[in-house]
Amino acid sequence: MITTLQIDLLPEGLEDLSLISEDLIRIYEVIKAKFPDVYVNCKKGKRIHNYSGYRNPDSKVGAANSAHKLGKALDLHRESKRENLNLYEWVIQNGAAHGICRMEDRKVTIDDSPGYGWVHIDIAEGNKSRPNQWNNGIYVFIP
Ligand SMILES: [Zn+2]
Repeated sequence: MITTLQIDLLPEGLEDLSLISEDLIRIYEVIKAKFPDVYVNCKKGKRIHNYSGYRNPDSKVGAANSAHKLGKALDLHRESKRENLNLYEWVIQNGAAHGICRMEDRKVTIDDSPGYGWVHIDIAEGNKSRPNQWNNGIYVFIP
């Protein structure tokens, strides 16, 4: 029996949730408790995206060395741009305390996105040599 979490966080055809970091799953559960409408790939059981959670190492989607391929990144989605912005701000304010290390800059993922955009969170190590890119303990980068 495949679970809602497996369907939501893995691409179609994969069921092994151990491909995703346990720490990241715990963080996602904290966010889901706060924002119940949040999803990664599947909204209310319906697949909208395929590679917003784990990406196969040979996937052509996104960056070659993406944290998604290590099971350390999630692209979070909500119902509107405004709701995505609310989530983004919540993660900036509270994310470091829950173990979130990096986010993609909202300018690219939300503000300039033709659709509602997304909120990329990951647990890869931020670049300490770029102090001006840190916000509240989170490394914010341009994807
Ligand atoms: Zn992402």
